Amino acid sequence: MKKMNYINNLIVILIVLLTEISNSIGDHRFGYNRPDQRRWSKKHNHCAGKMQSPIALSTSRAIPIPMPAIEFVGYHNLLPAPLKLVNNGHTVILHIPRLTDTEIEMGEFLPFIYGGKLEGHYEIESLHFHWGDKNNRGAEHLINDIRYAMEMHIVHRNKKYASLGEALEYSDGVAVLGFFYALDENEGEQLHQIVKNLNKIPNPEDFTLLNSTFALSSLFANIDDNRFYTYRGSLTTPPCSEAVTWVLFPDPIPISTSQISKFRHLHSSLEGSVLVDNFRSVQPIGNRRIFLRKINIKNTPNTLIDNDIHYSKWDWLY
Ligand SMILES: [Zn+2]
Repeated sequence: MKKMNYINNLIVILIVLLTEISNSIGDHRFGYNRPDQRRWSKKHNHCAGKMQSPIALSTSRAIPIPMPAIEFVGYHNLLPAPLKLVNNGHTVILHIPRLTDTEIEMGEFLPFIYGGKLEGHYEIESLHFHWGDKNNRGAEHLINDIRYAMEMHIVHRNKKYASLGEALEYSDGVAVLGFFYALDENEGEQLHQIVKNLNKIPNPEDFTLLNSTFALSSLFANIDDNRFYTYRGSLTTPPCSEAVTWVLFPDPIPISTSQISKFRHLHSSLEGSVLVDNFRSVQPIGNRRIFLRKINIKNTPNTLIDNDIHYSKWDWLY
């Protein structure tokens, strides 16, 4: 009888332990099919917030305002090595190593951005991609009803916060630059450094250290970075933190069929399935304003510019 109790207790302890383990795994796992996406908010209540991303952008809904271009500082410098490319089961992510104190003392710095309606300087953290199973889907943001085949997010942390985790607690914590890819008969040279390493990370948790480094600007060479949309939103994956100022460049980057097929052959964390269609459905815009940078200021009479409210005076909400 005593032995029976002992075994029962042991079973109870085992069940409790297994539940805890599966819960802790569950926090990092999420699916992209419609019912799965609806479940995100059960564990991450921000996912049901009113300032979620992605959204459908359109020229007609955006407010054109004159504002400064985005300044890319250090984007032409080679990134610090070693760069780590990871298949995390949801996407391919390139981690940019933080600098050591000695490197900072020697005057080195990581690429950062400022300008647009951003207040302050935002330093590079990482970049990743969203893509589809077919060419007519993959990007997260829609632009004038077009859903491109792929979207790249370059994630930056407001320098006034010490870590990305801390920055995600504040509405001005993070700036994400979004770029779109359109199928093209030619190879997009821009993606070469990433694509040539994808066959080394076929499965979730696989990673590779790139044996060469490159400059971030090479990822979006030849596109027009003068024109962009900007709005306040969230991370597009759990925990969906509403900490992101989005800056989206509508001029697409070319990608060939053979390049995108290398993304489509990666495996996701769901048993045996391929990693495709890792994009979130569009979210309600609500009372948010979407701004579009107005260019050709040179050709606009000064009187008109003076009548425009200064870009910094425009609030993000109606
Ligand atoms: Zn993303």
